[in-house]
Amino acid sequence: MARYTGSVCKICRREGVELFLKGARCFSPKCGIKKRNYPPGMHGKRRVKHSDYGVQLREKQKMKRMYGVMEKQFRTYFTRATKSPMLTGEKLIQLLEGRLDSVVYRMGFGSSRAQARQFVSHAHILVNDKKVNLPSYQVKPGDVVGLSEKGKKMHVMQANLDAAMQRGVPPWVEVEPEKFAGKLLRLPTRDEAALPVEEKLVIELYSR
Ligand code: SF4
Repeated sequence: MARYTGSVCKICRREGVELFLKGARCFSPKCGIKKRNYPPGMHGKRRVKHSDYGVQLREKQKMKRMYGVMEKQFRTYFTRATKSPMLTGEKLIQLLEGRLDSVVYRMGFGSSRAQARQFVSHAHILVNDKKVNLPSYQVKPGDVVGLSEKGKKMHVMQANLDAAMQRGVPPWVEVEPEKFAGKLLRLPTRDEAALPVEEKLVIELYSR
């Protein structure tokens, strides 16, 4: 399946929640769902009742889209999560949050996960002082994520960091903005990640 290249605000409107896919706009009154809180399309305002399967499917799509992960990779994460001694839902969230693009986003270097993914792919990101250009790279607690020399000179990085420092970063990361670096202290619990997703419905879908 090809990667979705349409308007990301339509994804939020379809799912009925803010998925924070568009950087600074998500925190402004221009946010698509704040302006038009109904599904996109001609029949968007029509109420649709989903079957149990439909509800489960929507939750899975929401989670996949939040993290920008394709179906095959998402299912691989799910399979890995089922093999963990942890609760499947919590482990699934940790695997997704441990992705390098997600950590870069949570530390505030990228204004969205999509932008963070681009920074990683363009080799602007270092993990423990080594360039890593794989967005799905799993960051481990204690790893230090920083910027390449070129990355440090990018105005967009500074602007993103300033905005993130103002909003505050989540408690599982520690960022030193003056060094353009941060440390992953631990992976978040389900409650800390505060996702607008009922992951148990995703588990039910894949357990059918
Ligand atoms: Fe979603 Fe952000 Fe667009 Fe708002 S601005 S609809 S949160 S992607």
